[in-house]
Amino acid sequence: MTTNAARPVVGVGYIIHESNSFNAEPTLLEEFRFRQVSDLQSSIEQWSIGHTEAAGFVEGASEAGYDIIPAIHAVATPKGAVESKAFELLCTRLIDGLRAIPHMDGILLALHGAMYTEEFPQADEEIVRRVRRAFGPDIPFVVTHDFHGNISPEIVEMTNVLITYQQCPHLDMRQRGVHAALLMGSILAGEVHPVQALVKPPMLWNLVFQNTYEEPLKSITDASIELELQPGILSVSVAGGYQYNDVPYIGCSVIVVTDDDRERAQREAQRLADLMWERHEMTRLNLPDAETAVREAMQSDSFPVSLFDVGDNVGGGSPGDETTLLHEFLRQQASGWVIALYDPEAVAAAKAAGIDGVFDMPVGGKSISTAGKPAGVKGKVRSLHNGQFIETAVRHGGQRYWNMGHTAVIEEEHSTPDDLNLVVLTTERVCPMSIHQLVSCGIYPERQKILVAKGTVAPRAAYEPVSAKVVLVDTPGTTSVNPKRFQFRRARPGIWELSS
Ligand SMILES: [Zn+2]
Repeated sequence: MTTNAARPVVGVGYIIHESNSFNAEPTLLEEFRFRQVSDLQSSIEQWSIGHTEAAGFVEGASEAGYDIIPAIHAVATPKGAVESKAFELLCTRLIDGLRAIPHMDGILLALHGAMYTEEFPQADEEIVRRVRRAFGPDIPFVVTHDFHGNISPEIVEMTNVLITYQQCPHLDMRQRGVHAALLMGSILAGEVHPVQALVKPPMLWNLVFQNTYEEPLKSITDASIELELQPGILSVSVAGGYQYNDVPYIGCSVIVVTDDDRERAQREAQRLADLMWERHEMTRLNLPDAETAVREAMQSDSFPVSLFDVGDNVGGGSPGDETTLLHEFLRQQASGWVIALYDPEAVAAAKAAGIDGVFDMPVGGKSISTAGKPAGVKGKVRSLHNGQFIETAVRHGGQRYWNMGHTAVIEEEHSTPDDLNLVVLTTERVCPMSIHQLVSCGIYPERQKILVAKGTVAPRAAYEPVSAKVVLVDTPGTTSVNPKRFQFRRARPGIWELSS
């Protein structure tokens, strides 16, 4: 692709981070993965790969007949607050990259919407503020957000169009990128004059209920998609928000963008926000705590029961060594359970003891942000593994090759030949996306009574096929779904299920 003086040119950027402000482990500069943007041709080719908004920008721009010039493409895995050094560098690279474009007609930016830094709680808003300051109030500026963005009135004020993913699980990132890029094309051609309205219902739409393919959210998402098809409506976004950020504008948002009809934008956004609020009681959190979940699992008439340790959702940035459920197994003398924990120190001890060697030490509960204390486990080393396994089926995230590092399976002292109590100790943090995490260690999931998976939504594809039942458990931890477990200081007052 070459730039042509006759075609408009749009500067594009992609900076994505979902930061958990309750996780004390900061996200460091070296954790960001950057795509090289030195050569325009290959840079655009890279952007077009995959199913992200970036690929959607390339597709939409091509269809709309303008050129794009990438300034930055940076992403890091969810974790704690982004360190200031990293945030400043991201902003500098973005703005310098855009400044290097000789004649820029518009700016198209993909931001997550839940980036949190040491200095700026609503960090995406700060990025937009700096871009506006650098390039003035008149340049068309279109921004995309994840469904989990916590959207402020200021960011809506500073952009011409703000558009979020409509679906969760997110399957429409590329589509929303295309939509944003096509809208940019219409703005550049002078065909539309977008005005947008934001309405935030005074509630948190809990993560447990953030499935847009199921009620109570599905019909609201469907209504937003239907509205977007109407003449004069340019885009409609219903965003669930991200509950692990203590920020003023935490929670769900509705943004309606119309073609120069402010009153209609406001009215329609209010209508959809009212639909959300009408259902707030349906999103009341009602999960068993660890004690109840373990007791009920033992009384179940069919096995195995998979307990999802949602407070220690490794894919959501938690440490992977929470011990709440393990403590309950030991306290209630449950039998036939298996739990995997990240604990390199315990793995080393098991290796030193060797197979059949005595194991007697506290495991888990050792990371800075872990809520639970280490749990004393006595027993013997059942097996040792190099920790590598393969998942050939389609599972969340699509990863094939896995490595949990050296891994030890401890057989707890109350095990019987029929009911093994097993602790799988790993050297790396592992998301439980594959049942082969257990199978590769010689564990037959179907012979266990209770399995533990550290996640909320992601482990379903792996665990549902081998489980009689899946139970989400209200456990503590940096990814607890129970907002009452966190102290919110910055959140605006009056948010349902937050202020109590
Ligand atoms: Zn998301």
